[in-house]
Amino acid sequence: MAEITLKNVGKTYAGGVTAVSEVNLEIRDGEFIVLVGPSGCGKSTLLRMVAGLEEISTGEVAIGARVVNKIEPSERDIAMVFQNYALYPHMTVRENMAYGLKNRKTPKGEIEARVAEAARMLELNAYLDRKPRALSGGQRQRVAMGRAIVRQPEAFLFDEPLSNLDAKLRVSMRGEIRKLQRRLGTTALYVTHDQLEAMTLADRLVVLNGGRVEQVGTPLEVYHRP
Ligand code: ADP
Repeated sequence: MAEITLKNVGKTYAGGVTAVSEVNLEIRDGEFIVLVGPSGCGKSTLLRMVAGLEEISTGEVAIGARVVNKIEPSERDIAMVFQNYALYPHMTVRENMAYGLKNRKTPKGEIEARVAEAARMLELNAYLDRKPRALSGGQRQRVAMGRAIVRQPEAFLFDEPLSNLDAKLRVSMRGEIRKLQRRLGTTALYVTHDQLEAMTLADRLVVLNGGRVEQVGTPLEVYHRP
């Protein structure tokens, strides 16, 4: 769990496109923040800067007490869940979930315990020895969630994680994500263009427009203006 602080954060791509400008944001410990706004408004760029997947042009991002501008992605204590799941096709569900921990030299018994716990929470026990191609879309997304959970990160970053699922699954997975995040108390930053998803998930919404923060507030404050 950690606070995430963005101070005057901006991004101008090499070609000269300014995707994000002067973003100031204080995300509280354990808070679920959803970034919304029209396509091209800079949501994904902002998330990627927090993740360390994109260089920050101006300003500063801090996760907990650490300023992360200069730290390699592997050194920050965050886990990202992607739209395309990003699972390793040649590994089983169990191996996919354990992989990030193995790289971090987590003891074997600890890895097994964490994977078992995540599998139980996500109802993946029956699928642990399968490869991703033998899973449904919803199951794959659960594995991606499991891989994030076992890391016990300070924050979860979600980049449109439900976009590839059908409508019914999106609704149930969205509930699952919210429940898990509440239970674990892990700070979450979530990007979506789906208004209903945003309203259901968010403690607070951040509305971006043209790379700038247009509004910050609870779903009620943002969507039910008089
Ligand atoms: P969103 O996630 O809200 O759709 P993005 O962050 O993907 O928005 O994009 C914001 C702006 O930055 C857009 O104008 C987009 O074309 C531009 N952009 C995104 N990625 C790159 C890149 N790698 N190089 C140049 N411009 C980019």
